[in-house]
Amino acid sequence: MADGPGLRTSIYCAGCRHHCPGCHNPQSWDINNGHWMSIDELMEIIKADSISNVSFSGGDPFYQAAAFTELARRIKAETDKNIWCWTGFTIEQIEADAEMSRMLQYIDTLVDGPFILEQRDTSLLFRGSPNQRIIHLTPVEEDICPGAVEITLK
Ligand code: SF4
Repeated sequence: MADGPGLRTSIYCAGCRHHCPGCHNPQSWDINNGHWMSIDELMEIIKADSISNVSFSGGDPFYQAAAFTELARRIKAETDKNIWCWTGFTIEQIEADAEMSRMLQYIDTLVDGPFILEQRDTSLLFRGSPNQRIIHLTPVEEDICPGAVEITLK
């Protein structure tokens, strides 16, 4: 219930090289701290919950961009669930990278940018510092996230 609006199946990936001071989940930095799961296994868990939407967090899913792109593609092809994704990269950095940018076509809402400890603000929804942007990549009927920004993809 904390990883985006409503009930969600949250996938916490291992691996993050942003190393933001004050990170909420530093145990996720080492990619070897996770356990391997196949896309089929993840799809089985996601589809078993008919109510929940899906969140990608971690860690940073964009360090496993090819696998998360395929997972996101399958979620969109096989369910009507929306996908929120957190990343320490900015959307501009993602768009400039051929492999990472492929995932954006399947993501509904991206929360981008590193956590900046000096700007920590616990009143913000779904993010820790105001530099992090809630970017709706698909239209939302009712925006419950004040401060969400509109960005047109190139
Ligand atoms: S991007 Fe997120 S998971 Fe990675 S170091 Fe920063 S706060 Fe932690």
